[in-house]
Amino acid sequence: MSVLAEVLSANESYSTDFEKGSLAMPPARRFAVLTCMDARIDPARALGLEEGDAHVIRNAGGLASDDAIRSLVISHHLLGTQEAFVIGHSDCGMLTFSNDDLRETLRERQGLDASHLDFQPFPDCGERVAASVRRVRESGLLPESFGVHGFLYHVETGRLEPVAA
Ligand SMILES: [Zn+2]
Repeated sequence: MSVLAEVLSANESYSTDFEKGSLAMPPARRFAVLTCMDARIDPARALGLEEGDAHVIRNAGGLASDDAIRSLVISHHLLGTQEAFVIGHSDCGMLTFSNDDLRETLRERQGLDASHLDFQPFPDCGERVAASVRRVRESGLLPESFGVHGFLYHVETGRLEPVAA
């Protein structure tokens, strides 16, 4: 079966006995998660989330990018979340390349020019989580009362480890 057919089949099953069609838009548990897109992290299962519980914002590295901050501002100011969990993880793919590496790969393989794009690779997961936590706090767009917690998720054990920011 193709991935497309598998995904559509899984959704058919999911929607057949779907009973959560009247959830409110604001997250019921009033928090947001910012984490990496890594396929080994399942925020719903790892953090005990059900549909309607929390916002989950993901990108490569789980970085507090301008776009992640945009999402957090909407999450808090329009949809009432009061805290965010910034979760990096062990063995992150962002440790495995440099901007120059990736730009060179794109140029060699496809003749593509990505010289204008910063892929934001980093050498230390814990430090990057701490920097992201600080970037959210220092954005000036969320109130002091908005809690920002940093964690490192270990893909080997499924466990969260607190990261001081
Ligand atoms: Zn990652």
